Amino acid sequence: MQRPDLLERLAVQTAERTQARLQRRLRTVDAYDGPYLESNGRRLLAFCSNDYLGLAQDPRLIAALKQAADETGVGSGSAHLICGHRRQHAALEEALAEWTGRERALLFSTGYMANLGVMQALLKRGELCVQDKLNHACLLDGAQLAGAVLKRYPHADVAAAARQLCSETDDSALLATDGVFSMDGDIAPLRELASLCASEYACLMVDDAHGLGVLGHDGAGSVAEDGLTEQDVPVLMATLGKALGCSGAFVAGSTTLIDGLTQFARSYIYTTAMPPALAAAALCAVTLARSEHWRREKLNASIRRFRHGAAQLGLPLMPSRTAIQPLMLGDAQRALDASCTLEAQGLLAVAIRPPTVPQGQARLRITLSAAHEEAHIDQLLEALASLRLETFPAGAPV
Ligand code: PMP
Repeated sequence: MQRPDLLERLAVQTAERTQARLQRRLRTVDAYDGPYLESNGRRLLAFCSNDYLGLAQDPRLIAALKQAADETGVGSGSAHLICGHRRQHAALEEALAEWTGRERALLFSTGYMANLGVMQALLKRGELCVQDKLNHACLLDGAQLAGAVLKRYPHADVAAAARQLCSETDDSALLATDGVFSMDGDIAPLRELASLCASEYACLMVDDAHGLGVLGHDGAGSVAEDGLTEQDVPVLMATLGKALGCSGAFVAGSTTLIDGLTQFARSYIYTTAMPPALAAAALCAVTLARSEHWRREKLNASIRRFRHGAAQLGLPLMPSRTAIQPLMLGDAQRALDASCTLEAQGLLAVAIRPPTVPQGQARLRITLSAAHEEAHIDQLLEALASLRLETFPAGAPV
């Protein structure tokens, strides 16, 4: 018997994707000095980073990282439960719990791993997991890994979510949603979802990777902005690699949740703890994100300036008041061409194409940051105006 060769099959799939002109491309960045970066010998004004508060370059974060590295070295040396859990991790967990108004918090090395860990620890095979169709890939993957019955409701459709929850009433159920949707920038109807979960005895989980630092009075995120407590949203997850300018993630909630994850979340247990120096930098980032309100104010002023200018130009803006401001272009080639033309003008805004977004919904995912000045926003608007996006029927090349 001859088995099909796995690598050959993979090569065919890769070739097909390339042929469809949907291949993902890797760019090496030589230097980043937000909002500018250097790549292929060119300095580009970036509108694609998730460094929403402009903290990734902050000298105080860099100093905290260096000082902790001097004290603790580079790697943590092991998993948290062996001997990798350092004082820097503990201090960060405490600060994150306090910021988000939760009893406790637990660090994970990445957001992807946090979501896998939560789903796998909470859900038993065959139990119901209801999710927004536009949730981040790792929430979907987590439900599949847990062997849950995954039901996906149309984006932000609470009535559809209710029907899916009500269809199975006996078993435990988890409803998971992004707080801010990563490719659209809009915010989930969290209050409605919370009351639905309360009335249906389901557990609500919010992934606030793109809301933390950006939304809420002191940046505590979309859940805090809506005044929702630990009782409304028992499982809150967010990342440290976006507005906080670092890397890693955490889950915040009750002692029951955190103790349980510590025992059962395999992506927490069986992996090396993040470098303690990174935890020290993230602790510094939490302090700055909470106290330096000017960062959110500046970001919000840029969002308003961009949306006002884009509306005047008739650009296909999507409804969003967050740092993610996509322009819906429809056709994948059109989005790619727009991105290439912008790059030729020294601006970097990436085209997001299927399968990351649904067919026919390719877009330029423009992200704004507190590192952008008014002149940067104007430069972007000027470049977008020159693309004449508003005059192109979907599918026509730019
Ligand atoms: N959740 C959401 C909503 C995300 O956008 C991302 C990453 N972009 C993740 C989780 C994964 O986080 P990380 O990059 O830390 O793995």
